[in-house]
Amino acid sequence: MSKFEYFRPNTIEEAIILMRENPSYCLLAGGTDVMVKIKENIIHPSAILDLGALDSLKGIKVEGGKITIGALTTHTRLFESDTIRKYAPALAKAAGLVGSPQIRNNGTVGGNMGNASPAADTVPALMAYDATITIASATGTREILLKDLFKGPGRTYLEPGELITEISFEAQGVNQSSSFEKLGKRKALAISVVNAAVFIEADPKTKIVNKARFALGSVAATPIRVPAGEECLIGNVISEKLLSEVAGVVSNAVKPIDDVRSTAVYRQEIAGTLIKRALENAWRTMSN
Ligand SMILES: Cc1cc2nc3c(=O)[nH]c(=O)nc-3n(C[C@H](O)[C@H](O)[C@H](O)COP(=O)(O)OP(=O)(O)OC[C@H]3O[C@@H](n4cnc5c(N)ncnc54)[C@H](O)[C@@H]3O)c2cc1C
Repeated sequence: MSKFEYFRPNTIEEAIILMRENPSYCLLAGGTDVMVKIKENIIHPSAILDLGALDSLKGIKVEGGKITIGALTTHTRLFESDTIRKYAPALAKAAGLVGSPQIRNNGTVGGNMGNASPAADTVPALMAYDATITIASATGTREILLKDLFKGPGRTYLEPGELITEISFEAQGVNQSSSFEKLGKRKALAISVVNAAVFIEADPKTKIVNKARFALGSVAATPIRVPAGEECLIGNVISEKLLSEVAGVVSNAVKPIDDVRSTAVYRQEIAGTLIKRALENAWRTMSN
């Protein structure tokens, strides 16, 4: 393990100054990814900027139908939040399936995005809600869609000197529903072989779908949306036959790879299955 300097800024402004003064910095939130990478000599930062004292980046707000989550909010807090369970159930479920209690108590939603793993669990859920992230730097703040954050495994489009401050999206409303599914090699403490999140808006009487957003993890170099699958659903009447057709379209649309956790062929198959399962859950919850 290489040596590094340790800083714990008290404000976002202080963090921004420290990023400028220490070009080879690494931001630390819960540390569940960073500390593993340092111990395994995967990264060698000269300075660690621990964001843990930035209380303004912790917590969940709902205002005017919009949910805003601070980047330092832990998975446990998301999972236990009545607001998230009610207005973003796919995110609550995803957060509750991250790692183990220890990982969820420390790991944050900002760290899950910043780590840019294709298998990150909260990211597909947030992408299904079409979430926007706010990024702060010395020049002010900018917003981008979360789906545009990722460059590749472990790589984001964040510029040096930038940090994610919050994530926001519209709270799930009337005739809307969402769900998350994860397949790992074990039931607990398992990185996703594939994960899937869906958001739908449908007329409960006619069963016609007005809006649909699907996101998948672990089937590409970054978490992805699946527009072909979404288009297959929108404007049509929900039925077992339609959902099977959507599953087929999703499986055909993704191009996963073989790795230690699974084969490409299996991932392709399971991607459609998980989207179908998530859609069935979302529809069941909405129509009950
Ligand atoms: C045993 C184990 C099991 C795990 N299981 C899962 C799992 O099931 N599902 C899953 O999705 N993940 C899992 N993880 C990965 C990890 O726990 C999550 O990715 C977690 O959300 C990371 O959050 P963190 O706060 O610990 O991030 P950190 O480790 O502190 O940071 C991760 C990365 O994000 C950057 N970063 C942190 N905060 C910000 C910010 N505000 N702005 C910009 N960049 C930032 C850091 O610089 C770093 O590059 C597991 C990890 C371990 C060790």
